[in-house]
Amino acid sequence: MAKKEFQAESKRLLDLMINSIYTHKEIFLRELISNASDAIDKLYYRTLEDGATGLSREDFSIRLEVDKEARTISITDNGIGMTQEELDQNLGIIARSGSLQFKQEAEKKEDVDIIGQFGVGFYSAFMVSQRVTVDTRAFGSEEAWHWESEGLSGYEITPGAKEGHGSTITLYLKPDTEDERYSEFLDQFRVQELVKKYSDYIRYPILMEVQHTKVKEGTGVDGKDPEYETVFETETLNSMTPIWKKSRSEVSDQELGAFYKEKFYDWQEPLKVIRTSTEGAATYTALLFIPKTAPMDYYTREYEKGLQLYASGVLIMEKCADLLPDCYSFVKGLVDSQDLSLNISREMLQHDRQLKLIAGRLEKKITSELTSMLNNDREKYEEFFKNFGLQLKYGMYDNYGAKKEELKDLVLFYSSTEKKLVTLKEYVSRMKAEQKYIYYGCGETVERVMGLPQAETLKEKGMEMLCLTDNVDEFALRMLMKYDDKEFRNISSDDLELETSEEKEKTKELAEQNKEMLTFLKESLGDKVTDVRVSGKLKSHAVCITTDGMITTEMEKVLNAMPAREKIKAQRVLEVNGEHPIFQRLCDLYQNDKDRLKLYAEILYDQALLIEGISLEDPADFSQKLCQLL
Ligand code: ADP
Repeated sequence: MAKKEFQAESKRLLDLMINSIYTHKEIFLRELISNASDAIDKLYYRTLEDGATGLSREDFSIRLEVDKEARTISITDNGIGMTQEELDQNLGIIARSGSLQFKQEAEKKEDVDIIGQFGVGFYSAFMVSQRVTVDTRAFGSEEAWHWESEGLSGYEITPGAKEGHGSTITLYLKPDTEDERYSEFLDQFRVQELVKKYSDYIRYPILMEVQHTKVKEGTGVDGKDPEYETVFETETLNSMTPIWKKSRSEVSDQELGAFYKEKFYDWQEPLKVIRTSTEGAATYTALLFIPKTAPMDYYTREYEKGLQLYASGVLIMEKCADLLPDCYSFVKGLVDSQDLSLNISREMLQHDRQLKLIAGRLEKKITSELTSMLNNDREKYEEFFKNFGLQLKYGMYDNYGAKKEELKDLVLFYSSTEKKLVTLKEYVSRMKAEQKYIYYGCGETVERVMGLPQAETLKEKGMEMLCLTDNVDEFALRMLMKYDDKEFRNISSDDLELETSEEKEKTKELAEQNKEMLTFLKESLGDKVTDVRVSGKLKSHAVCITTDGMITTEMEKVLNAMPAREKIKAQRVLEVNGEHPIFQRLCDLYQNDKDRLKLYAEILYDQALLIEGISLEDPADFSQKLCQLL
């Protein structure tokens, strides 16, 4: 096969690796060992699935070999191997999200330090090598293949001679320079140290021929001088104890962070680590992570929730969705339980009582951890909420509110008086004695909500209002119905019960006196409104739209934005401020110029819609009418 070019993306990543001045070049070993372990995992699953491979767990290992003379270090696994096509695809193109994300970040920041934060994968070999070869044979295949590259100039694939399935990656180290001693990776102690540091928890033995100096047998006793000899012994370099099985004191936060980044393809440290284990009805250890930022695809259909599931230390499922409720789908991590059988199938798992029990416990644990974060580290919680709050609010609404009680104290909304995010509990604790409802307004942004005509009234009465800016917000609160026995009320609904009895009396009087005029306005607007009323709740604004009944204008907007739904319509009411000069003008027109009054009605209605952030049915018509008036 002729020499081939790397795909453009790969080339750039490769270029970054080759020219990297990054000081932790040692991570290449971690990356290659982790690839080896993944390759074994793949074959091991197959063994579990059909049992026809004739292999068992004990057969698998990763072997390191160092050749000082040739200046090579090689990593051999007896995993799944690669076919010719796979070799071409996997090592010629970067596909993995981690590598791709790394590249994007690197281009943004031009900061080599981020190398340490990512799993950079196979290409990291080029940080320390001038030439890399891969000899591989796919499991069950007759053919072996040889891949070879000296970096940017491309790669070549030729028939190979590898015996047995699996892959050997051989690195031909770069010559030492004044600044860099690549020979350090030929030193057995250095390699041992690196394996301990980065790959200790790899679940397959990492073997290496280790050189020891020993006292020769028969010497050093009976008064004879000891003689020494050099022997080579195969040693297992890693403890194979998974990080989650170690005690808290044995594992540093840094190690947990590194583990998370590598296993769950994130480039940032997690926001929170949750470790929990229990014995009894369900025996398990769980290591959970809350990411710092929401993954790019988090709020899309592509995102798959789930935790890794291990049975006694052996991975049996990469993403077990049943372990997490939807409201906590952002949680990453793993569960290891000895109660589960290794050969359990997916279908069986779904009905597994033990699994349900574990899922229930984990959910409680996550809730309590989030609650304590909210109470003890508000800043961190708000950072969390900025990323995943939307999911919690969906969670309240979802499934007919099945999780609303659990989530109601975890959601935050922006407060008009506190000028920051507050909990419902905090809101209620500040409610005035005479205040009947928890008030909220809806709009695209906080500024919009604060600018609503009715918001002014609340402000004047010194009452707090929650500003709802996400589509799901109002639905979530509706699902909750009450908090602490206080009902929620949208400030755009008809009656806010804010007026004093005097004010009410006055409004009523005005309405009585102008009954015919109001009826005329309503008839002019046809089926656009169900009523036109005098309002006592407006201050500087002339008009506003309120709604009768269950559906508010905000809900109307959201519901109608959903695909394939019958359009619904809120029962709109046009309210006119009885104290506003325009009201007197309307009364005059009713006496003298009904045609003009009709025009006024239409313009005022459209204006009220605009303030609410509802788009006009016919903006051109509105503009024409306004010009006519001017
Ligand atoms: P990642 O391992 O994160 O997917 P890499 O760039 O390290 O990204 O590797 C690319 C792909 O090459 C892997 O996904 C895997 O399919 C294949 N690969 C790498 N190393 C091995 C190996 N030792 N055995 C089998 N396949 C491998």
